[in-house]
Amino acid sequence: MKHVYIDTMGCQMNKSDTERMLGMLSHFDYVEVKNPEEADLLMINTCSIRQLSEDKAFSAIGTWGKWKKEGKDIKIGFCGCVAQQKAEEIFKRAPYVDFVLGTHKIYSLPEIIKKINAGERVCECTETNATEDNLAKEYNIERVKGVNAWIPITEGCNNFCTYCIVPYTRGRERSRMPEIIIKEAQDALNAGFKEITLLGQNVDSYGKDFKDRNYRLAQLLRDLNALEGKFRIRFVTSYPTDITDELIETAIELDKVCEYYHIPMQSGSSEVLKAMNRRYDRETYAKIVQKIRKMVPDVTITSDFIAGFPGETEEQFEETLTAIDEFELDYSNVAAYSPREKTVAAKWVDKYIPEDIKDKRFQRLNDKVKENCLKSNKKYVGREMEILVESFYNHKGKNIITGKTRNNKTVHVPCDKDLTGEFVNVKISGAKTWYLQGELI
Ligand code: SF4
Repeated sequence: MKHVYIDTMGCQMNKSDTERMLGMLSHFDYVEVKNPEEADLLMINTCSIRQLSEDKAFSAIGTWGKWKKEGKDIKIGFCGCVAQQKAEEIFKRAPYVDFVLGTHKIYSLPEIIKKINAGERVCECTETNATEDNLAKEYNIERVKGVNAWIPITEGCNNFCTYCIVPYTRGRERSRMPEIIIKEAQDALNAGFKEITLLGQNVDSYGKDFKDRNYRLAQLLRDLNALEGKFRIRFVTSYPTDITDELIETAIELDKVCEYYHIPMQSGSSEVLKAMNRRYDRETYAKIVQKIRKMVPDVTITSDFIAGFPGETEEQFEETLTAIDEFELDYSNVAAYSPREKTVAAKWVDKYIPEDIKDKRFQRLNDKVKENCLKSNKKYVGREMEILVESFYNHKGKNIITGKTRNNKTVHVPCDKDLTGEFVNVKISGAKTWYLQGELI
């Protein structure tokens, strides 16, 4: 038995890649350990969405490099988005790294392991326009234990928003074959998972690239909904103008598909949206959100926003604050703008917003999100809702279960029994900023 430690940074897509890599490594008798000091193979799965994440990755592997120099018999792998982007450059900056593995080539890992064991140093970062579903069939996935299985349905993105590194690190959009996705979902359900989340940078354009069949997200939802047993289905992330009426209607009609949409708006100002190369303006976004709210009772709509995009004026920033109020966004992820190499906006150095102003806008945006989140949570006090229990723990001497409602609200409930993985009906008794309090019915 050998031991592998993987440090996973960034988004769910990276977490999903890590689960796939662990599945491949199990064929080489590797078992995952949580302590890097116990590992024979150390890997970092990097994120390049912000400069800070990239810097953190190099600082994390520095310690491993030191261990190697001191004579510890270990192999080190540098994977993920930064690897895809920097390729061979990684060896210059971190000469102790044994292999560099980009996002396009994760199914090369078995070959890489053979090569590094034979003493070679490997860089596998060539871009590909194909998904690797045939290879995916050959390997199991070592999923992190829990109730929610994340399944990528698309990889990459064609949108080229001017701030975003994803099209450069994950490549052009490719849809995975429905048969593979359905099999992965069935395997996860057989293993006891109770929720399937379909994952992609832009899930609504799923299937657009299939040349020989007309099969889109709505059809995939129907086929997954038909699988046996009680479980939930979610899908993230949605690009505003790609959400079709057919998709909304199908999601309503299917009992397992939850009332939850994550629709990044990024800015409340139409001018800034144009500069970001988003394909909608404030009014268009408003119409989409209003339509979903009208059609889907109790729907939760969440979003993403960037503070301090190059050239953003105070008035334009305030439009973002008013958008969060006006569209009653239930929760939003916020980030301060971080220039990323290769992207269009990174070149607009003369329009960069000074750090102190950007930080203040980021803080104000956070405050607005908090305010709206609490407002949204308060709507559910007194209601009876079903939660899927995700964890059981003791907090200050009290046993608690925590679960999610269909519309993705977190609920904490006092309970002495571990009900993880079960569907439980609760009465909502209180609302805090980030969660609801409930009681068993
Ligand atoms: S839609 Fe825009 S922000 Fe989202 S992944 Fe694609 S390029 Fe990046």
